Amino acid sequence: MILEQTNPLARAPLIDPFGRDISYLRISVTDRCDFRCVYCMSEDMSFLPKRDLLTLEEIDRVATAFVQRGTRKLRITGGEPLVRRDIMSLFRSLSRHLASGALEELTLTTNGSQLARYAQELADCGVRRVNVSLDTLDPDKFRAITRWGDLGKVLEGIEAAQKAGLRVKINAVALKGVNEDEIEQLMRWAHGLGMDLTLIEVMPLGEIEPGRIDQFLPLSIVRARLMDSFTLVDDPYRTGGPARYVRVQETGGLIGFITPMTHNFCESCNRVRLTCTGTLYMCLGQEDAADLRAPIRASRDDAALHRAMDEAISRKPRGHDFVIDRRRGKPAVGRHMSVTGG
Ligand code: SAM
Ligand code: SF4
Repeated sequence: MILEQTNPLARAPLIDPFGRDISYLRISVTDRCDFRCVYCMSEDMSFLPKRDLLTLEEIDRVATAFVQRGTRKLRITGGEPLVRRDIMSLFRSLSRHLASGALEELTLTTNGSQLARYAQELADCGVRRVNVSLDTLDPDKFRAITRWGDLGKVLEGIEAAQKAGLRVKINAVALKGVNEDEIEQLMRWAHGLGMDLTLIEVMPLGEIEPGRIDQFLPLSIVRARLMDSFTLVDDPYRTGGPARYVRVQETGGLIGFITPMTHNFCESCNRVRLTCTGTLYMCLGQEDAADLRAPIRASRDDAALHRAMDEAISRKPRGHDFVIDRRRGKPAVGRHMSVTGG
């Protein structure tokens, strides 16, 4: 009640100019990571100074403002969210929105390296599903892709998550000449453990070495190859994210395809992304953004924050236009996925 009196905007849903109801917020809580995946980061990344980051209390404040405006799903991501100090205090405080029923789902995307330690606590906070990124089951290849990662730790993390009752989905980036011969094995492994598998095309985000053109593998090819050995049936399952799913009849599991490069999924986009510095990106594939840190630091009252959110959503573009272009040799978007949050 008090909220409505001080802040009349606090109940109006966020609807963009194309009539899309913005109900899904992804929050990158850090740009740092304990891995250096070749498609995501360069080996010598420079990270943001700590003073630029929103505190966990500030992140909670922005997330809460979105929940008041109709956000039903929150996904915590990064960088690697589980390397941010005291990250569990954020999960604990956000879980009040699950308890009140205002929020339908609180989820996490992680590389799994710290999951063994945190799985039970996440489950206790009301997290029901986690996405774990894993591109290969070969320890040497895993090390080559992540540069710094240890496959054994990630597998332990997945096991702990399942033991804690979390539903695990595996996310794998399809990489030409790297894991393309392993997709079937990954799928059999994931489905065998009751986990769905989502495949992702490499997106041109941020400067990295070597060129991403060499890594790009269209999922249309992967799908066609799978269809040589398996029966794939379109499935209506949706998580609120951009993946389109098929059920594999032989294994009973689902495979999701995220195909920003070969198929535009923007029409139904209900998502916005908050970076760890409080910048709101209305589209993963566009540079336009809004600063939410200034309005929250300017006042203890949330009126300016809500105004900034409205103004930002009024600029949400119709869609993106990714190209991996040989002549330009430059990414379509200069910031890395670890900044915007995958
Ligand atoms: N560190 C966590 C992880 O790896 O799951 C969360 C952040 S990570 C940026 C989120 C997802 O983005 C991961 O599944 C990762 O594979 C994916 N990703 C990173 N860079 C990408 C790129 N250039 N193209 C496509 N997917 C990318
Ligand atoms: Fe880290 Fe995730 Fe990026 Fe890999 S994909 S470097 S784990 S943020």
